Amino acid sequence: MLLIEDEPEIREMLCFSLGRAGFDVVEAATAEQALDILDGPLPRLLIIDWMLPGMSGVELARRLRRDPLTADLPMLMLTARGEEHDKLKSFDAGVDDYLTKPFSPRELVARIRALMRRAGNPEDGKVVVGPVEIDTNSHRLSVNGVPVHVGPTELRLLEMLMRHPDRAFGRAQLLDRVWGRNVYVEERTIDVHVLRLRKALAPFGADAHLQTVRGVGYRFSTSDVKA
Ligand code: CA
Repeated sequence: MLLIEDEPEIREMLCFSLGRAGFDVVEAATAEQALDILDGPLPRLLIIDWMLPGMSGVELARRLRRDPLTADLPMLMLTARGEEHDKLKSFDAGVDDYLTKPFSPRELVARIRALMRRAGNPEDGKVVVGPVEIDTNSHRLSVNGVPVHVGPTELRLLEMLMRHPDRAFGRAQLLDRVWGRNVYVEERTIDVHVLRLRKALAPFGADAHLQTVRGVGYRFSTSDVKA
């Protein structure tokens, strides 16, 4: 997840608590820095402080909601006491939840877990579709419980597709989400990674789930219907 908070002490404290709860945290001190980070591989959730120097947390949230790439990222806004009257504004900005400072680390973790569940992204670290399972904590892939070895990029690509089963993604979309916007990669690179994934899944007959959608790109589906 990405934490955007300008006060170093609060940021450090939050990172510590979130790390102890088992979350990977990337830190940003400003909205501008966060936008740079978001040009890379996307985080699973954003924690945004309301008051930031430069672009405010609310402006950042609005901007991310307008961008199709980041529109469905779960966002939690942190506000200071006295800013609560503005919390409606943060919902206007498309924020999913907010938390007023000071709060306990336990409350923060509980809210994050609830948000991830609501986003269909439960935090037990497992993404399962049919016989295929990815443990996102240990970065391991298995099919029918048997470990399968693939490279880190293949795993990220497969996880992205599996998090949205049956949904077709274009090559450009996959590049933006898995590689990030600031990386120049040719679209056919995706095909190479899909081939490798299919090869790894083939011994289990699971390669058929990684489907080519003609004229679009790829999808992960356990239904047999091919486009
Ligand atoms: Ca602040």
